[in-house]
Amino acid sequence: MQDGTQVVTRIAPSPTGFMHIGTARTALFNWLYARGRGGRFLLRIEDTDRERATPGATEAILRGMTWLGLGWDGEAVSQFARAGRHAEIAHAMLETGDAYKCFSTPDEIAAYRETARAEGRSTNFRSPWRDADPADYPDAPHAIRIRAPREGETVIEDRVQGSVRWKNTDLDDMILLRSDGTPTYMLAVVVDDHDMGVTHVIRGDDHLANAARQSLIYRAMGWPLPVYAHIPLILGPDGKKLSKRHGATGVEEYQKMGYPASGMRNYLARLGWSHGDDEFFTDAQALEWFDLDGINKAPARFDFKKLENLCGQHIASAEDSGILTDLVAYLSAIDADPLTKTQEDGLSRAMYSLKERSKTYGELIEKAHFVLGSRPFLPDGKAAAALDPVSRGILIELTPHLQNASWTRDGLEDAIAAFAGEKDLKLGRIAPPLRAALAGRTVTPSVFDMMLVIGREETLGRIEDATGHSGN
Ligand code: GLU
Repeated sequence: MQDGTQVVTRIAPSPTGFMHIGTARTALFNWLYARGRGGRFLLRIEDTDRERATPGATEAILRGMTWLGLGWDGEAVSQFARAGRHAEIAHAMLETGDAYKCFSTPDEIAAYRETARAEGRSTNFRSPWRDADPADYPDAPHAIRIRAPREGETVIEDRVQGSVRWKNTDLDDMILLRSDGTPTYMLAVVVDDHDMGVTHVIRGDDHLANAARQSLIYRAMGWPLPVYAHIPLILGPDGKKLSKRHGATGVEEYQKMGYPASGMRNYLARLGWSHGDDEFFTDAQALEWFDLDGINKAPARFDFKKLENLCGQHIASAEDSGILTDLVAYLSAIDADPLTKTQEDGLSRAMYSLKERSKTYGELIEKAHFVLGSRPFLPDGKAAAALDPVSRGILIELTPHLQNASWTRDGLEDAIAAFAGEKDLKLGRIAPPLRAALAGRTVTPSVFDMMLVIGREETLGRIEDATGHSGN
C-alpha cells in the first residue's frame, strides 16, 4: 500500500452454518483497523462450496456481524457470483505463460504421488504438461495450473509473523481453474481481494501458507501485494484449540447467554491484541489504539471469567437507554416474551440499580423481577424461607413506619434505622423478609432502591400480600 491510500480490509467467512468466535475476532480486528483509519471494511461471503453455502448459513454470518455491531461498507460480496471473473484471470495467466493447461487425470496424479511417496520424494505433483508443446495437446478436459517458480524462495513479510520464507521447490503448480471450469479457492481469494481493493489482509494464521501460494498469483498478474497480518488461533483455557468442549464457539450463543456486544468487542479485542495493561476500554479507545504491532505472536487463550468481568463493567457503564435497547434484542434472541410498556417503564426507572454487578443481561433480568412482575409476588423457595412467621411479624410492625416515612433514600434509611433501634434488630434481620416481600426473590437490588423505584403504595401493598395483614 502506498502512503495516503485509503485502508481497505475485509472479512471473508465461509458460511458454515454459524459464525465462529474466531471469525468474529478476525472481523473485529479488520473492522478496528479500517475504521480507526478512516478506511473501508468489506464483507465477502466465500460461498463457493455450494453444499454448505445455504441462505441460512449466510444469514447466520450477517446476524452475527450485525449483533456485534461490525457494520461493513457496501453490499456483502458473493464469491460464487464472481466465478466468471476468476476464470477470466486464469485465462489471462494462460495467455502470458504464467499458467498452463494440464491434462493429467486424477488417476495419473494419484499414481504420481504414490510413486513419489514410495521413492521418498516430495509428493507435490509435477505435471508433465508444464513444458509440453501445445501441438501435442489432446482434445480432452484439462485444468489450468499456475507455472510456479521452481528456483529461489518466496518470502512473505508478515506484520505479525515477521519474514516467512518458503523454498519454491515446496510450492506446487496449484490448480487455478478445475477441468469443469470452476475456480479454486486460491484463485478466487486473490482475484476478489485485488478487485475489492483490499490493502490489508488480516486473518487466521492457518492461512499463512496460503499467502505464499497466493502471492504467486499477485506477482504473475503484476498486482501489488496486500499487507499481510496472520493472527494466531484462539485456544481454550487448557491450551488446546478452542472447541465446543470448552464452551460456546458460536457468536449467537454468546448473544443468547446475555453478554452485551460492547463487552464482547472489548473481550475479543483483547484476545490476541494488547495495548499496555489496558483491559477495560470503550470502542472509541479501541479504534484509536488498535494497531497491527499490538497483535501477539503467541496464541490467545479464551478466558470465560475475564469475558464476564468485562461484560459486567460494560453493562455498569452503559447508558440506561442503550441497555434497554439491548434487552429488547436479547429477549427476542432467546424467544422470551417482549416487554410491555409498563415493564419498559419499570426497567427504565430501576436501571440505575440493576446495571451494577450484572455480568449478563440474563442476570439483570433476574434482578429486575421486582419491576417486571406484578402483585402478588409469590416468593420462590429461598424467598419463602425468609418469610417465616417471626419475620412476617417484623414486617407487620415495620408497616406504620413506612406509612409515615418521607419517601427518599435518607427518609427510608432513617425510618428503618429508627425501627431497628426501637426493636433492637439489626438491618440484616429486617432486609431479607422485606426483600422477599418486595420481589419474591433473594437476588435483587437493595431494599431501599426497590422501595424508591416502586413507591410507597406498591411497597405497602406487597408487604400486605406477604404478611396477609392490611396494616390498617
Ligand atoms: N474463507 C476463509 C475462512 O473462512 C478466509 C479466507 C481469507 O481470509 O483469506 O477461513
